[in-house]
Amino acid sequence: MFVPKRIFFEKKALEYAIGQKIYDKFKDKNVDIIIDNRVHFQANDNPALKYKEGKQTLVVGVKRVSKFETCKPSADYQLPLISGCTGQCEYCYLNTKLGDKPYTKVFVNVDDILDNAKKYIAKSDNITIFEGSATSDPIPVEPYTNILERTINFFAKEKNGLFRFVTKYTDVDTLLTLDHNNHTTIRFSINTDKIISAYEHSTPSKSRRIEASQKIMNAGYPSGFIIAPVFLYDDWKTDYSELIDELSAKVPKNYKHDISFEVISHRYTITAKNKILNVFPNTTLPMNEDERKFKYGQFGYGKYVYTKEQLSEMKEFFTQKISSLFSKENIKYII
Ligand code: SF4
Repeated sequence: MFVPKRIFFEKKALEYAIGQKIYDKFKDKNVDIIIDNRVHFQANDNPALKYKEGKQTLVVGVKRVSKFETCKPSADYQLPLISGCTGQCEYCYLNTKLGDKPYTKVFVNVDDILDNAKKYIAKSDNITIFEGSATSDPIPVEPYTNILERTINFFAKEKNGLFRFVTKYTDVDTLLTLDHNNHTTIRFSINTDKIISAYEHSTPSKSRRIEASQKIMNAGYPSGFIIAPVFLYDDWKTDYSELIDELSAKVPKNYKHDISFEVISHRYTITAKNKILNVFPNTTLPMNEDERKFKYGQFGYGKYVYTKEQLSEMKEFFTQKISSLFSKENIKYII
């Protein structure tokens, strides 16, 4: 569970039950409580310090609910419940997306957000899928916000609505007894021990994530793994092979859903590289353009990906390995 160093409450947020609950939980603890619509803390214009302080900050706010952003290909729409994450993964896309606002922000007007989701569901004849982790990892604040609990309960009753999110965290206990009606998929982001210890600071170990995934599977949720980002270092095949062996061995025997696999190779943009170097000047992330292929992405900007030969070797390896222990149908994509 994330215990922040400071919490900013937007004034209006305290009028909502979730806002008040967070306030009551932390008001007598060793946490700075600041009621202010503007987030501010001393960081001496030092990007690394600003990042560290930001990551220890929680903001409790009210979302102005309007249009939801699309979220292809993993879902139809983003569900904006929380933004930011307490983790400090060096490669994280949020370093670019959130820039100098690296704090976690929770939105207390969940009912407004879910009412809006209901309108999107009603507009379509098909199933509409909402992604709850497009700009966050929502699990570390769940024990005292219960935002996911509320959302899972909401989707359980929506005939044509599905919810999904991904996490690296383990604070899942409050979700285990919910009547989710198989309408929420909880995936776990996983990697080799070497990558987790080198780059995924302030996140749980591989074995703790696998334990949390077992709890979620035992609670009957549809589940899966995102293996990302895949790095092609010396011995990567041995390590990723062992990882998939371990996942296979730990799936509860009576698990009734198909486990999905999404496998994503490491890539970066020059903007991301510059932000990462600002915050982690000594990073050992492999970001040498001479060793990569430049590729235009779907949003018009270019990124550096592994070479065509490396990617086809990677795809062949993961297809073969996952198919041998699960089945080819379990693989959603390998990119
Ligand atoms: S856990 Fe996920 S969202 Fe959080 S910092 Fe790491 S990669 Fe980013």
